Order: sequence, then C-alpha cells, then structure tokens
Amino acid sequence: MTHPRIGLIGLGTMGRALALNIAENAEPLAVYNRTTSKTDDFIAHTRANEPALADRLTPADSLEGFVQSLATPRAIILMVDAGAPVDKVIAALRPLLNDDDLIIDAGNANFHDTNRRAQEAEAAGVPFIGMGVSGGEEGARHGPSIMGGGPRDHWDRVANVLESIAAKYGDTPCATWMGTGGAGHFVKAVHNGIEYADMQMIAETYGIFRDGMGRDAARIGATFAKWNEGPLQSYLVEISGKVATATDPETGKPMLDIILDKAGQKGTGRWTVIEAQHLGAPIPVIEAAVCARNTSARLQQRQRGQDSFGAAPLLLPEGTLSDDTLEGAMIAGKIMCYAQGFDLLHAASAHYDWGLPMPEVARVWREGCIIRSSMLNDMASALESAPDDNLIFAPFFHDLVEQHMPALRTTVATALSHGLAVPALSAAVTWFDMMRTARSTANMIQGQRDFFGAHGFERTDRDGKDYHGPWAMGG
Ligand code: NDP
Repeated sequence: MTHPRIGLIGLGTMGRALALNIAENAEPLAVYNRTTSKTDDFIAHTRANEPALADRLTPADSLEGFVQSLATPRAIILMVDAGAPVDKVIAALRPLLNDDDLIIDAGNANFHDTNRRAQEAEAAGVPFIGMGVSGGEEGARHGPSIMGGGPRDHWDRVANVLESIAAKYGDTPCATWMGTGGAGHFVKAVHNGIEYADMQMIAETYGIFRDGMGRDAARIGATFAKWNEGPLQSYLVEISGKVATATDPETGKPMLDIILDKAGQKGTGRWTVIEAQHLGAPIPVIEAAVCARNTSARLQQRQRGQDSFGAAPLLLPEGTLSDDTLEGAMIAGKIMCYAQGFDLLHAASAHYDWGLPMPEVARVWREGCIIRSSMLNDMASALESAPDDNLIFAPFFHDLVEQHMPALRTTVATALSHGLAVPALSAAVTWFDMMRTARSTANMIQGQRDFFGAHGFERTDRDGKDYHGPWAMGG
C-alpha cells in the first residue's frame, strides 16, 4: 500500500470540500477529524456519491494513526476553527512529527497568530505555512483562491498541489505565495474586508431600489442580473441577483422579504479595520461596512428609533435616480473600496517588510474567491505598472472615476436628503473628496492640538517642526 504524502485535519464544511478537491485534482490524502463519527460519515457519504474519490481517501480514527498513515516528509493541512483550536492541534501533532514535516494552517487565522506560530516554528526548526483560502465551501471543493505565507521554500514544497486544487483564471492558478509569516492570512483578511464593503454597497443600492423607489425584490434581482453583464460583473453582484429573485418555498414570498435584517461581523472583517487603524491606513468604506453590520444588529434600538423619530426612508419622486446612475455609483464605489484595500496592503507590506506582490494579489482574487470580479484583471494590470501607487491614479481607473463619480455623488446626495442610509457609498464620496483636496482642514486640528496640549505644528511657509501659536504665549 502506498502512503499519501498529504494529510488534512478537520472535516467540517471547508475541510470536507478541500479534501475532495485534493483527492480529485491533486493526489490521494489521509484525513482525520477530532470527532471520529464525522470522519465515518464523510467516508460513507463519499463512498456512496463519489466512490472513485473515496478510494483516494485514507481515514484515521486517531491522530497517531493519521500521522503514521502518511509518507515522509509529511504535509498536513489544518482546516479547523481559527484561534485556540489551531494551537491545540499543533501542540498535539508536533511531537508525533519529524522535523521536516510541514504543517499548513488553512483556516481563517488572525495574521498576528500566524506570525507568532511562524516564529515558534522557526525557533523550533520545523516548517509551517499560514494560508488563506477563499471561496467558501463551493470554492474549497472546486477551486478556491489561495494566499500563502511563510518561508518560500516550504511553500514551494506544496505549490504544485495547491496550484492543482486552486481556481484557474484561464490557465493561471489562483494560488500565490504572498510573503513570509502572516502575509497570506493578512491578504485573506483584507480580501474579507473588501468583501464586507462590496456586499454593503450592493445592499445599500438594494435599499435605494426597495425603499426609495418601491421596487419589489424580483425586479431588483433582475437589475443586478443585468448589471452582472457589464462593468460590475462579479460573483457578489451575480449572487445578489439570485438572492433577490429567490422565492421562499414555504410561504411563496420573496426570500429576501422574510430574511431578518440583522447581520453580524466577526473575525477577518473586524481584524481588517483594527489593523488599518494600527497602520494609519484610511479604509473608510470598509470601516463603514463593518459598522453598518454592527448597527444592523441593534434591531430593538432601530425599532425604537423608528417609533420615536418616524421612519427614515422617503420615497423618491419618480425619475430622481435612474438605474444607470445607480450602476455608475456602484462602479465608482467599488473602485474606491478596492483602492483602499490595496492601500492597506501596501501599508502593511512596508510595515511588516513582506514585499507583498501587489499585482499578484489582484491576480489571485480574479477567480475562486468571493470578491472575484472582472475589474480585478484591470487592477492587476494597473498594479503591474505602478505597484506602489493608489489605484485611483492608474490611468484606467482615473478615467473610470472621472466618468462615474458624478453618479456616485448624485446617488449619495439624493439618498441622504431622503433619509436612505448609504454609509459605505457616502464614505466612498467623502474619501474621494479628501483625496483630491490638497489643502485639507487638518490645519485646524493641529491648531486645536497646539492650543490645548502644546503639541506643536509645522508651518506652510518655513521648514522645521514644533512651532506654536500665539495662544502658547497667552496671546
Ligand atoms: P466547521 O465548523 O464546519 O468545522 C470546524 C472544524 O474544526 C471541525 O472539523 C472541528 O472538529 C474542528 N475543530 C474545532 N475545534 C477543534 C479542536 N479544538 N481540535 C480539533 N479540531 C477542532 O468550520 P469550517 O469548515 O467552516 O471552517 C474551518 C476554518 O476555515 C475556519 O478557520 C474558518 O474560519 C475557515 N474558513 C471558512 C469558510 C467558510 O465559508 N465556512 C471560508 C474560508 C475559511 P469537530 O468535528 O471535532 O468539532
């Protein structure tokens, strides 16, 4: 019997899908799950439905048996809950492994944890990779986008397997080494931050259609489906169209109309915002999206607000906003959101000395992941020409911004004057206006700081720092 080289621990939603993907598109593998009944169920289910793949799976009912079933040097993928479970599994696994056996954490780890684990692995002289995997269950099964981090030579050991199972854009696999330590998990977190913002902007546009124009869900879905054939072509616009047109089989009502309007945020979206603050990188569209989810969760307060102040959204007069204007607003908003995401990656790359391959980041997101969209290919080209520049300055996107900014501004102004909440879209306008204002209002902030705290300021007419205003002298 030949022993597989690859093992996978954690047969939850993602682990099962990834195991079948590896078995189908790469090579046979060993699998293990803490709760062994899940392993049995997985094997039985696979044998019933995909018997050829079941033959390529070697199940184990103990960690020791799992390790022994693998040929050396081993490569073991962890697909368990992020956080303490990863540390627990590594602690249980390491003593059973040889020094050249590779552990790959493929869950949604906080990149700080991955940095720590990478340092611990390096100190112990054992190989470790932290790897972001995007695309949900469907992606994991049929081709995810994979963002790797850790020592390059460890990535190279398994690159052919990861490229075999990754989504393909044309012939190019969406699996890339991003840098050392937690670089892969950081890129995945920012991906998720952009995902939050993209979803929020779609939801806000849905809100304008629903509350500002009184359109039903099916009609809104049809509009999203149409937009998906143009510049907004993307997985999220596509699925939003499908979500909006779906009917609840139990009630016959539009599915959207009976889904509770309460969204949570955890993990990667939150980490993206926190890290952006640490790095001083402005990502207001992503922040607004995370904040909007938090506000949505305050269901009772929102009900009380409506009872106290009256319902906010007012119907727009007929013809106030056209579908084309809203499409243009989404295009401009999307560019702002990605520009901020890449700007954050740039700041992190410099701070952590990762040397993130910016065009490769855009390329790895072109297929397989949740934020895949036709715009990403143009973003990859723009970042190829000027990897350190903000995307809005790339000629292609500069022109698109000029073309669609009026639509975004009109949309936001109209929405705000009618009480329609558009936090992410309006954050995009405000950020854009700040970005094109050479003389900002921060001189007032600096004056205030100097007044109350003698913090000092720079002058526009002289070199040097630490000037003070006349108030410091009692003036
Ligand atoms: P599930 O809840 O479906 O599965 C969790 C898995 O983790 C189970 O196999 C569980 O084992 C195992 N596990 C949890 N705690 C421990 C522990 N202490 N020791 C050993 N095993 C443990 O989660 P998902 O498959 O959805 O997610 C797995 C990882 O992938 C997470 O980090 C998640 O954030 C990430 N991810 C998820 C995506 C998604 O769309 N779902 C997308 C991209 C990444 P047991 O059965 O014994 O409880």
